[in-house]
Amino acid sequence: MAEQSNLTFGIIKPDAVRAGKFGNIIQRIVDNDFKIRAMKLIHMTREEAEGFYDVHRERPFFGELTTFMSSAPCVVMALEKKGAVKAWRDLMGATDPAKADAGTLRKEFGGSLGENAVHGSDSEENAEIEIGYFFSKLELV
Ligand code: ATP
Ligand code: MG
Repeated sequence: MAEQSNLTFGIIKPDAVRAGKFGNIIQRIVDNDFKIRAMKLIHMTREEAEGFYDVHRERPFFGELTTFMSSAPCVVMALEKKGAVKAWRDLMGATDPAKADAGTLRKEFGGSLGENAVHGSDSEENAEIEIGYFFSKLELV
Protein backbone atom coordinates (compact mmCIF):
# COMPACT_ATOMS: atom_id res chain seq x y z
CA MET A 1 0.00 0.00 0.00
CA ALA A 2 1.71 3.20 -1.17
CA GLU A 3 0.42 5.44 1.60
CA GLN A 4 1.37 2.96 4.34
CA SER A 5 4.31 5.10 5.46
CA ASN A 6 1.83 7.78 6.45
CA LEU A 7 -0.10 5.40 8.68
CA THR A 8 0.45 4.43 12.26
CA PHE A 9 -1.45 2.37 14.81
CA GLY A 10 -2.54 3.72 18.19
CA ILE A 11 -4.38 2.53 21.27
CA ILE A 12 -6.15 4.57 23.91
CA LYS A 13 -5.37 2.17 26.75
CA PRO A 14 -7.79 0.85 29.43
CA ASP A 15 -6.67 3.37 32.08
CA ALA A 16 -7.61 6.34 29.90
CA VAL A 17 -10.90 4.78 28.76
CA ARG A 18 -11.80 3.88 32.36
CA ALA A 19 -11.04 7.45 33.46
CA GLY A 20 -13.36 8.85 30.79
CA LYS A 21 -10.47 10.53 28.98
CA PHE A 22 -10.84 8.99 25.54
CA GLY A 23 -12.89 11.93 24.24
CA ASN A 24 -10.17 14.38 25.29
CA ILE A 25 -7.51 12.23 23.63
CA ILE A 26 -9.47 11.88 20.38
CA GLN A 27 -9.88 15.67 20.33
CA ARG A 28 -6.10 16.07 20.70
CA ILE A 29 -5.57 13.64 17.82
CA VAL A 30 -7.89 15.65 15.58
CA ASP A 31 -6.38 18.97 16.70
CA ASN A 32 -2.93 17.64 15.75
CA ASP A 33 -4.11 17.02 12.17
CA PHE A 34 -4.19 13.25 12.20
CA LYS A 35 -6.80 11.73 9.94
CA ILE A 36 -8.59 8.87 11.69
CA ARG A 37 -8.74 6.07 9.10
CA ALA A 38 -10.21 3.45 11.46
CA MET A 39 -11.36 3.36 15.07
CA LYS A 40 -13.19 0.94 17.36
CA LEU A 41 -13.78 0.14 21.01
CA ILE A 42 -12.68 -3.39 21.89
CA HIS A 43 -12.13 -5.42 25.03
CA MET A 44 -9.12 -7.66 24.40
CA THR A 45 -8.92 -11.13 25.81
CA ARG A 46 -5.68 -12.05 27.59
CA GLU A 47 -4.69 -14.12 24.56
CA GLU A 48 -5.30 -11.20 22.18
CA ALA A 49 -3.21 -8.88 24.38
CA GLU A 50 -0.42 -11.49 24.53
CA GLY A 51 -0.47 -11.79 20.75
CA PHE A 52 -0.31 -8.03 20.31
CA TYR A 53 2.64 -7.63 22.71
CA ASP A 54 4.38 -10.83 21.59
CA VAL A 55 7.74 -8.99 21.22
CA HIS A 56 7.68 -8.34 24.98
CA ARG A 57 6.91 -11.98 25.91
CA GLU A 58 10.25 -12.52 27.66
CA ARG A 59 10.15 -9.21 29.56
CA PRO A 60 9.50 -9.28 33.32
CA PHE A 61 6.51 -6.94 32.93
CA PHE A 62 4.75 -9.07 30.27
CA GLY A 63 2.19 -10.52 32.71
CA GLU A 64 1.40 -7.14 34.23
CA LEU A 65 1.15 -5.55 30.78
CA THR A 66 -1.18 -8.14 29.27
CA THR A 67 -3.35 -8.31 32.41
CA PHE A 68 -3.75 -4.53 32.25
CA MET A 69 -4.43 -4.42 28.51
CA SER A 70 -7.16 -7.05 28.84
CA SER A 71 -8.66 -5.52 32.02
CA ALA A 72 -11.15 -3.18 30.34
CA PRO A 73 -12.08 -1.78 26.92
CA CYS A 74 -9.63 0.23 24.88
CA VAL A 75 -9.85 2.20 21.63
CA VAL A 76 -7.77 0.98 18.69
CA MET A 77 -7.04 3.36 15.81
CA ALA A 78 -5.34 3.64 12.45
CA LEU A 79 -4.02 7.20 12.15
CA GLU A 80 -2.81 8.97 9.03
CA LYS A 81 -0.45 11.92 8.85
CA LYS A 82 2.80 12.68 7.04
CA GLY A 83 5.47 10.83 9.06
CA ALA A 84 2.71 9.36 11.21
CA VAL A 85 4.83 6.94 13.29
CA LYS A 86 7.09 9.69 14.66
CA ALA A 87 4.35 12.33 14.82
CA TRP A 88 2.14 10.07 16.95
CA ARG A 89 5.02 9.02 19.24
CA ASP A 90 5.94 12.70 19.66
CA LEU A 91 2.37 13.52 20.66
CA MET A 92 2.30 10.55 23.08
CA GLY A 93 5.57 11.44 24.85
CA ALA A 94 8.00 9.21 26.73
CA THR A 95 6.93 5.73 27.90
CA ASP A 96 7.16 6.81 31.55
CA PRO A 97 4.64 9.65 32.09
CA ALA A 98 6.91 11.12 34.79
CA LYS A 99 9.60 11.62 32.12
CA ALA A 100 7.25 12.77 29.34
CA ASP A 101 7.46 16.35 28.08
CA ALA A 102 4.81 18.89 29.00
CA GLY A 103 1.98 18.93 26.48
CA THR A 104 2.26 15.23 25.61
CA LEU A 105 -0.62 12.80 26.10
CA ARG A 106 1.29 10.60 28.53
CA LYS A 107 2.24 13.60 30.66
CA GLU A 108 -1.37 14.74 30.78
CA PHE A 109 -3.24 11.44 30.96
CA GLY A 110 -0.73 8.72 31.97
CA GLY A 111 -0.60 7.54 35.56
CA SER A 112 2.47 5.29 35.64
CA LEU A 113 4.98 3.41 33.49
CA GLY A 114 2.58 0.48 33.22
CA GLU A 115 -0.61 2.52 32.79
CA ASN A 116 0.48 5.21 30.37
CA ALA A 117 -2.75 6.06 28.53
CA VAL A 118 -1.70 5.41 24.93
CA HIS A 119 0.24 3.09 22.63
CA GLY A 120 1.90 3.89 19.33
CA SER A 121 3.74 1.78 16.76
CA ASP A 122 7.53 2.12 16.84
CA SER A 123 8.16 1.64 13.09
CA GLU A 124 6.36 1.64 9.77
CA GLU A 125 6.73 -2.15 9.57
CA ASN A 126 5.14 -2.64 12.98
CA ALA A 127 2.40 -0.11 12.17
CA GLU A 128 1.37 -2.26 9.22
CA ILE A 129 1.44 -5.43 11.34
CA GLU A 130 -0.48 -3.83 14.21
CA ILE A 131 -3.15 -2.28 11.98
CA GLY A 132 -3.58 -5.70 10.38
CA TYR A 133 -3.90 -7.34 13.80
CA PHE A 134 -7.05 -5.33 14.63
CA PHE A 135 -8.51 -4.13 11.32
CA SER A 136 -9.41 -5.64 7.99
CA LYS A 137 -8.72 -3.62 4.83
CA LEU A 138 -12.45 -2.90 4.55
CA GLU A 139 -12.44 -1.14 7.93
CA LEU A 140 -10.00 1.55 6.78
CA VAL A 141 -12.04 4.48 5.50
P1 ATP B 1 3.91 1.26 23.66
O1 ATP B 1 4.49 0.08 22.94
O2 ATP B 1 2.81 0.91 24.62
O3 ATP B 1 3.53 2.37 22.73
P2 ATP B 1 6.55 2.18 24.24
O4 ATP B 1 6.88 1.80 22.84
O5 ATP B 1 6.82 3.59 24.66
O6 ATP B 1 5.04 1.90 24.57
P3 ATP B 1 7.66 -0.35 25.08
O7 ATP B 1 9.08 -0.49 25.49
O8 ATP B 1 7.23 -0.87 23.75
O9 ATP B 1 7.27 1.20 25.25
O10 ATP B 1 6.79 -1.03 26.22
C1 ATP B 1 5.44 -1.41 25.98
C2 ATP B 1 4.60 -1.07 27.16
O11 ATP B 1 4.98 -1.91 28.24
C3 ATP B 1 4.76 0.35 27.69
O12 ATP B 1 3.89 1.27 27.09
C4 ATP B 1 4.43 0.20 29.16
O13 ATP B 1 3.01 0.30 29.36
C5 ATP B 1 4.87 -1.21 29.47
N1 ATP B 1 6.17 -1.20 30.12
C6 ATP B 1 7.37 -0.92 29.56
N2 ATP B 1 8.35 -1.04 30.46
C7 ATP B 1 7.76 -1.39 31.63
C8 ATP B 1 8.24 -1.66 32.95
N3 ATP B 1 9.53 -1.60 33.25
N4 ATP B 1 7.31 -1.98 33.88
C9 ATP B 1 6.00 -2.05 33.59
N5 ATP B 1 5.48 -1.81 32.37
C10 ATP B 1 6.35 -1.48 31.41
MG1 MG C 1 6.39 -0.09 22.02
